[in-house]
Amino acid sequence: MICPKCKTEYRERYTKCSQCGEDLIENDAAKQNGRENWLLKFGETTAKRAISVLFFLGLFPLFFTSILFGKYLYLTNLYEKDIWFTQNGQRMYTSTMVNNKPLGFLGGLVFFVVTVLAWKVLCELFIIIFRAIEIYTQKNRIR
Ligand SMILES: [Zn+2]
Repeated sequence: MICPKCKTEYRERYTKCSQCGEDLIENDAAKQNGRENWLLKFGETTAKRAISVLFFLGLFPLFFTSILFGKYLYLTNLYEKDIWFTQNGQRMYTSTMVNNKPLGFLGGLVFFVVTVLAWKVLCELFIIIFRAIEIYTQKNRIR
């Protein structure tokens, strides 16, 4: 027998802790209790913290992918740019094809925002799934 409060061990014939007055429990039950508490703690705090760390770690690859995506847009989208010049006192104009920098920048930015939102939703989903598993295992434990 063991006291659940101070963990003092007693022989079988004792029922109450002489120091705290707590009802003594079986040693095995105490061990199992500790294990369940550890599991609960893991489910509530560690999992949530791990997922928020996962979320922030995921931001780096998303950021670099967005830069690559923006760069790709910039390099593959050309637009005609007017060039005015003066020749022999006359205003002349020609055009040249230039890479679309604003489109690349905006595209990369939009890509980043959308993927971060999707990643956030996915992480929230992970937490919900983890909670569901937690509740499920708790129910099974009671039975
Ligand atoms: Zn005690």
